This record gives sequence, structure tokens and C-alpha cells, in this order.
Amino acid sequence: EKGSTVSITVVGASGDLAKKKIFPALFALYYEDCLPKHFTVFGYARSKMTDVELRDMVSRTLTCRIDKRENCSEKMDQFLKRCFYHSGQYDSEENFKELAKKMKEQEFEDVPLLMQDGRISNRLFYLSVPPNIFIDVVKCASTSASSANGWTRVIVEKPFGRDFESSAALTRSLKEYLVEDQIFRIDHYLGKELVENLSVLRFSNLIFEPLWSRQYIRNVQFIFSEDFGTEGRGGYFDNYGIIRDIMQNHLLQMLALFAMETPVTLEAEDIRNEKVKVLRSMKPLQLENMVIGQYKGHTKGGVTYPAYTDDKTVPKGSLTPTFAATALFINNARWDGVPFLMKAGKALHTKRAEIRVQFRHVPGNLYNRSFGTDLDRATNELVIRVQPDEAIYLKINNKVPGLGMRLDRSNLNLHYAARYKNEIPDAYERLLLDAIEGERRLFIRSDELDAAWSLFTPLLKEIEEKKIIPEYYPYGSRGPVGAHYLAARYNVRWGDISAAEHHHE
Ligand code: NAP
Repeated sequence: EKGSTVSITVVGASGDLAKKKIFPALFALYYEDCLPKHFTVFGYARSKMTDVELRDMVSRTLTCRIDKRENCSEKMDQFLKRCFYHSGQYDSEENFKELAKKMKEQEFEDVPLLMQDGRISNRLFYLSVPPNIFIDVVKCASTSASSANGWTRVIVEKPFGRDFESSAALTRSLKEYLVEDQIFRIDHYLGKELVENLSVLRFSNLIFEPLWSRQYIRNVQFIFSEDFGTEGRGGYFDNYGIIRDIMQNHLLQMLALFAMETPVTLEAEDIRNEKVKVLRSMKPLQLENMVIGQYKGHTKGGVTYPAYTDDKTVPKGSLTPTFAATALFINNARWDGVPFLMKAGKALHTKRAEIRVQFRHVPGNLYNRSFGTDLDRATNELVIRVQPDEAIYLKINNKVPGLGMRLDRSNLNLHYAARYKNEIPDAYERLLLDAIEGERRLFIRSDELDAAWSLFTPLLKEIEEKKIIPEYYPYGSRGPVGAHYLAARYNVRWGDISAAEHHHE
């Protein structure tokens, strides 16, 4: 059989992301029969390792789906046999030629010499290395290890630069060796199940889309919080800060998907065109609308939690924000005047990512007039919890059963773990599969990236030039009080998981 093959090279295979996410995702795809029949996985890095050592390293992080354990270890062995390692420098064309030779051996392994002509060998490179090495790798891979007769694609991880200029420079350099169609910029939030589901929710249910505008929506919140700090790995983070690390990419991408107009089709370019329009319609960000914070040390119950600047890899006196909150506005007919609030922070009291849509008051609400219900409690709120414990729920007013007339808020609740028995695939699985299949819908196009950086760059520069002091908040707290004042300025209260909500789940 001639057919086609795919060689997947994980560049930086000795690293953290490769071990934690990429190899396990590749295995999951293999296990689910999603990889092409003829595939080979190569690890590439400077560290010295044999194929056996790579397999040993990889095998320690592979897992099976909770719901499908049969044949798992057999499958793992089969998968590991398809994994190889090549040690080399990131800027050595010679070393990449050696890699290409090994690829070829595998690509044609099962084809007699006379039939090799017709086989197409596709190649995917996953750049899981620090960004200063991207260009070296892309140069070597494209000149010395790209496919002769099939496609060559490159997956690039964030950070894509640290401001508009450096991002544009990176794109220019990438395009010396690749065309736009070969570049797959990954934002793993776009691979998350509930983020993909946003468009399904909106466009395939009658009851949401008609409400999806300034007429019925009071504000929208995009919240990201982590309940741990940098924990000794702050070196990378300190150069970027939470605004670049989370807001400019993950939260802004969710916002664009949330707010876009109906795309012409579900094709990648149609969706990305609509997202770019949203980004380009946004009002420039204002420093007055931005709260930045940094966590400080804290002792609770005899346990001492470190300050951000206690991290040995963080420069003393660093002003890098570990928390930020902001209000954004979209200047178009649908969203004029609606605050889109974002909040992202490390070392907070909880770990979650969610979108909260707060609806307007019911005009002339009969029940408010008759029973004086607290207006603020009485508005509907739709919550899309992206992680952990995926869920979609809508807060509604409901009559407490009984002879009297008392209202309370209840949830119409779609709790994924209860409704869907299958394990939810990791974001990296979907994104890797899409890259292999050439599906670009969930990857960031360069004009999208430009628009995202144009929005945030002036503000980031202002914060840095003015050396704005972050508001310090205790490790494990709810973050700086400033975030509440910011929301209050727009008559907004941050949605939060209340005791009642927990109860209903
Ligand atoms: P990493 O472990 O720091 O680096 C991956 C590999 O690159 C290392 O094993 C090392 O391999 C090589 N490397 C590291 N520093 C280098 C240097 N200064 N010069 C040359 N080579 C160097 O990185 P990672 O955490 O796996 O992340 C990989 C990429 O994904 C980065 O771009 C990161 O920003 C991005 N990312 C990571 C995560 C995550 O969860 N870790 C999440 C999102 C995005 P050798 O020494 O063997 O060559």
C-alpha cells in the first residue's frame, strides 16, 4: 500500500510540555485510532538519549482513558515502538539532515523500493522549545527536513513575541521559511471542549442567539484563576506577566469567539475573519480601566505561602503583574456600551476558567413590584465553566415550593461529568489532530495575532514605562480589592461561586 505517511517531530522532546502534554496527546490519538495508519513520532533535542530512553521517559506519562482501559498497555507498547529520538543542535542543518534520513527510513519502512515513488510523506514539527530558538528550528527544518512531496507544517507555542513589534518580527522571520498555511499557532484554550462548544450553544439553539447583544446582555466576564504561584518557575513568567501570558491570548480569544457575528460557514477562514473583526472593533484599552496586582507572602493555619518575589527565579523588586483585571468595549452595533470584563490571576483562592454572562433586569418585573425581590439577585446569569469540572448552567428565578410565594435562584444545570460518561479529551489532542488534518479553525492567523497585540501593546508599554506598582494581595486570597472597584464603576459585580451554587451542583 502506497498511501501517505506522517512524521511528527517533537522539537524540545526533553522538555516539560513534551512530557506533560504532547506525547500523552499523541498516544491518546493513537489509542482512539485517529492517527494516520503510517505514522512515526520523533523526539528531537540536544539532550543525549537513545530511542529506548525516550520510550522509557514517554511511557511514564502516558495514560489511558478512564472509560477504556482494555488493551491499553498493549497499545502503549505499539505506540512506543513508533517513537524514535534524535539528538541534535537546534541551529544545525547537518543534524536536521540526519533526522530527515531517519524519517525517510521509517516513512518507507514497509514499502518495496519500486513502489516508493507514489508514497506521500507529510511532516509535522511541534516547536516545544523556548521562543528564542523558534527561527533556528524553522530554518533548519524547512531547508533540511521538510517533505519532498507532501505537506510540511509547524506548530508554534506561545509566546508569540512580547509586543506588537516583536510578534510582527517573529511572523516575518517565520515567513522567510514558511507560508501562512504552514504555520499553526497554538492557543490551547481554543482546543478546550467548552470553548469549542460556545459556537454550538449560540448558533444551534434558538434561545441564546436572539439574546446575544447589548439589548439583553448587561456584561460578560472572562475569568481565569490559578490557586498556585510560580513555585520556582518564575523565570519565564517574569519577562511576560499575566496580561501577556493569559489575557492577550487565552481570554481575548474566548472573547472574540463569544462576540463574533455569525460566520458565513464553519470553515476556518470564515470563523477567523469574524474573530478579527471583533478584535479590530475594540476600543483602545485605558490604564484607568486596568487593575494590576502581585501576590505577597501570607501565613495561614501555620502554613507560610511565599510572595511572588520570594521565587528565586524572579528578579528582586520585580513589578511584574501576577494578577490583572480590565474592562474592554467593542465598538459595534451589537455590543456598544457592554462591558467585557476580564480577570486573570495566580495564587488566588480557587482554580478555574469560566465565562459569565449577566443579563439585564426583567423590565417592569411583576415579582419585584409585588415582593420587593433584591434586583441584583434577580437577573439571569449564564455560566460556561471551561475548567475544571466542565459545566454550563443558567441561573433562573424560581418559586420555592410551598404554599407561600417566595422566590429563589436556582440553576438549570448541565454538569458534564453527570451527563457525559466519556472522558473529555485534552485540548492538545484536538489541536494536534486538527494540525495533522490541516484544519486551521482553532489556530491563530497572523492578522488575528497582530490585532490582539495592537490592542494590548500601548497599555503594556505604559504600565512598564510608568513603572506602575501592582496592588499586593495575599497568596490564596480573592485578589486585589481594586478589581471590585473597577467592576463597580460599570455597575458590575464579579460573578462568583456562591455557597448556593455549590449546593445545587
Ligand atoms: P522547557 O522545558 O524549558 O524547554 C524544552 C526544551 O528546550 C528543553 O528540554 C531543552 O532541551 C530545550 N531548551 C530549554 N532552554 C533552552 C535554551 N535556553 N537554549 C536551547 N534549548 C533550550 O519548555 P517547556 O515548558 O517544555 O515549553 C516549551 C514551549 O511551550 C515554550 O515555548 C513554552 O513557552 C511553551 N508553553 C509551555 C507550557 C507548559 O506547560 N510547560 C504551556 C504553554 C506553552 P535540550 O536541552 O535537551 O535541548
